[in-house]
Amino acid sequence: MSVLTDLIYGGSNAVAGLTEAAVNDAIAKYGADHAIAFPDTAYFFPTIYAATGVKVKTLGDLPACVGVMKSLITNQVDMGQALNAGLATAVGAEIIEGLKYIGGGNPYENETGIGFVPDPIIRSLGVPLVTGDIPGVAVVLGKADDAASVSKVVKDYQSKGLLTFLVGDVIEQCNQGGVKMGLEYRVVPLGHDVTSVIHVVTVAIRAALIFGNVQPGNLAGLLEYTKNRVPAFVNTFGAIDAVVVSAGAGAIALGFPVIVDIDLGDNQVPGALVSVCDHDQTVATSLELREIKIKVTELPIPVAFAAAFEGEIIRKADMHNECWSSKNPTAELVVMKELNEVEDHKITIVGPDLDEARELALVTYVEVAGKKMQVDFESVIERKFHAWFNYMEGVMHTGQRNQVRVRVSNAAFEAGLRLKDFAEVLYVMVKNEFDAVVDKCQVTIITEPVEAGKFRDEIAMPRYAQRDDRLASMTDESVDRYYTCILCQSFAPAHCCVVTPERLGLCGAVSWLDAKATNELDPNGPCQPIVKGECLDERTGRFESVDKMVKDATHGAVESVTLYSILEDPMTSCGCFECICGIEPVSNGVIVVNREYKGMTPSGMTFGELASCTGGGVQTPGYMGHGRHFISSKKFCSAEGGIERIVWMPKELKDDVGERLNKTAKELYGIENFVDMVADETVTTDCEELYGWLSEKGHPVLGLEPLM
Ligand code: SF4
Ligand code: ZN
Repeated sequence: MSVLTDLIYGGSNAVAGLTEAAVNDAIAKYGADHAIAFPDTAYFFPTIYAATGVKVKTLGDLPACVGVMKSLITNQVDMGQALNAGLATAVGAEIIEGLKYIGGGNPYENETGIGFVPDPIIRSLGVPLVTGDIPGVAVVLGKADDAASVSKVVKDYQSKGLLTFLVGDVIEQCNQGGVKMGLEYRVVPLGHDVTSVIHVVTVAIRAALIFGNVQPGNLAGLLEYTKNRVPAFVNTFGAIDAVVVSAGAGAIALGFPVIVDIDLGDNQVPGALVSVCDHDQTVATSLELREIKIKVTELPIPVAFAAAFEGEIIRKADMHNECWSSKNPTAELVVMKELNEVEDHKITIVGPDLDEARELALVTYVEVAGKKMQVDFESVIERKFHAWFNYMEGVMHTGQRNQVRVRVSNAAFEAGLRLKDFAEVLYVMVKNEFDAVVDKCQVTIITEPVEAGKFRDEIAMPRYAQRDDRLASMTDESVDRYYTCILCQSFAPAHCCVVTPERLGLCGAVSWLDAKATNELDPNGPCQPIVKGECLDERTGRFESVDKMVKDATHGAVESVTLYSILEDPMTSCGCFECICGIEPVSNGVIVVNREYKGMTPSGMTFGELASCTGGGVQTPGYMGHGRHFISSKKFCSAEGGIERIVWMPKELKDDVGERLNKTAKELYGIENFVDMVADETVTTDCEELYGWLSEKGHPVLGLEPLM
């Protein structure tokens, strides 16, 4: 053991020395008062903040942190102590990387890596991680003996849907090996210096703060969270020096096993530090050590099929075919039929295939039947087409219903991809994911333009209209039950969403119909019915049954939530919300900010800072996470006056929800073009200016009662 602890301490001491020197240099050059921060985070230097509660804001805050770091390095021959030294290395790496951001520029601008990962990206990863869509996180670092071996391992992770972070020369090696990179491909190059590995470590650490409600300074709670809830592990390639070993010790302290490709002999630590010299075994051993299970979908198609390809973009130059509603009729439709009307696995193609025309019409028509099938599930299944088509490597899908665009790449075409494969994907996936309700499924694809147009106009459009009528008639009052969703509890154990027809889950991905279908598919699963019963307070939307279910679902952490108030027991947030609303005291209104917005808001806080006010199942009156669609709901903050309170939104969000918001404002208050009275960043981000502007516009909020 002592060889290993020697190495760890050697590395930790080296990093400590470098860190101290770098801090002293920076203070000598810029002065102790000079501000320092990572970009787009509300968690300061996240490792230091989470472990000690210290908020690093200036260079002058750093010497004390260096002191703490050194105190963690005891040089005692004891594995527990040595792991602490590993944490010290993490602290040192964070400081060294943080110093690169001095002056506010982007030190990674001309690098192949991305460096620090902003908070909003971590929040956006919440849902795919809890649903198992991203089953785990791999950190691949070093320099492989040959590029092919590391590329193969990374591609394997990619095909299994894992999120892989690269550090060091493996970045170029994967580039050479043809690995597609970028967050959309789930392979993220961080940087070349070994210290850049901290940028994935702080992702795990911020997950604990964002989703887990781990309090800053609670080091034990932090380590427990990362160990139990962040399914990450490390693979090193090539020779490892003392610094890499001590960084590895830090990873182990966080609960992440480290798999090296050199023979460590007796120095291995079972379950934590393991040698796997045969690269064909790297992936299997890593997944096993972290107990990551991969759902495999065997599909008889000539291209890869994996969630990792969901974000793939196909540019014109790489495109072989395009089916686009602007040029040709398109429609996507799922219809429920009687059992005797559907022939299972029947596939029909009407019209030219991908080798017969470049630009095609595209109707994808799926008829399903099953004893437990309900008409309400049609749209739930239909909405999955988007993801399933995108999972095919070389296929890009956008839109839905009659507004669709599908592109097929040259490479996918050359690999042999044809329309029957699209049909096969739909068939297999419908039967896989909806097996509890779909007994039989048949697929028809129409590319013949006249036929496709006829189908769209005569069959699809009336069906969409029917559904829209049903959705519009579905209100919180018209149903007898709501649903809980606790999917996010694997990250946010104290959080539970209450999903109603007029209030979808805060991630934006779970509507009342989705929750209903989820419950039907998996009766003991994450969505449980809340039979409404007596309403205790109509104004705030307080129900005895809701409180009881939420209390049960959060194991007592949350006693009471209202459905419609931002001030009185507002609904909790896990952390992956699409938007956050918060009160704006000067105008007496609320602002709504979406995750994608990077700028300042009139509250004096960015999205990230606003978002950090709530989360992890905590109730923070005045701040609430929610989905985009909720903004135009008649129930949006209805206890406080509803959408009339909205005074400011980023422009992109305004454009996105504007039409629906105007419609709601007209229906509720008879106001025309309400959105024109809502400010955005092109108007102002200053609260006093905002007030003046709202007065000019005659915004209705100015006539409402004070919020507090
Ligand atoms: Fe998570 Fe709520 Fe969305 Fe369910 S509805 S996945 S709990 S955010
Ligand atoms: Zn969530």
